[in-house]
Amino acid sequence: MQHLIDHARVFPRRAAQGPEGFGRLAAGQSPHALFITCSDSRVIPSLITGARPGELFELRTAGNIVPRHDRPHPAGEAATIEYAVEVLGVGDVVVCGHSHCGAVGAMARGDDLTAVPAVRDWLEHATPLPEGTDAGAPDLAHAVQSHVLDQLDRLRAYPCVARGLAGGRLRLHGWFYEIHTGSVLAHRSHADAFQPL
Ligand code: ZN
Repeated sequence: MQHLIDHARVFPRRAAQGPEGFGRLAAGQSPHALFITCSDSRVIPSLITGARPGELFELRTAGNIVPRHDRPHPAGEAATIEYAVEVLGVGDVVVCGHSHCGAVGAMARGDDLTAVPAVRDWLEHATPLPEGTDAGAPDLAHAVQSHVLDQLDRLRAYPCVARGLAGGRLRLHGWFYEIHTGSVLAHRSHADAFQPL
């Protein structure tokens, strides 16, 4: 932890000297995209995309799960999605799953999660993984990709997303990031397959 604290201490000096122009960020934000991905520490959206401060609005959840929009209780995830689409007016939403995902692996294997009830309850928000997903494959590619498509379906049901899609103001993207290679695959609807970006 100490090296993280040390970095944060000198960060203002680095920010002042860097090319980002942090001062302008106080005027507001106008991010290009909402990027929904897993909380996994190995997935760094700005590192993958090269996004500068102010360019990506992020939503990170365990397993990049998008909860149903009509849940009875207030949900931070729904608020983040609605704010990005309706207030910030992002033109694109990316759902990015990743290889070797612990959450998707637990779902695919049907792990016993009684010791972590909050995790168990959260994963129940995910659409059940389709039959035949490769729970035994180390990178879980098929399971994660199917899971990403399910989360895109969830997103389409959000009223703000549906309006954006109908109005041609919004595009949805399904990505699969390989943490062991850095490669990104994108779902191509015409081929119904994940292919290199
Ligand atoms: Zn994950």
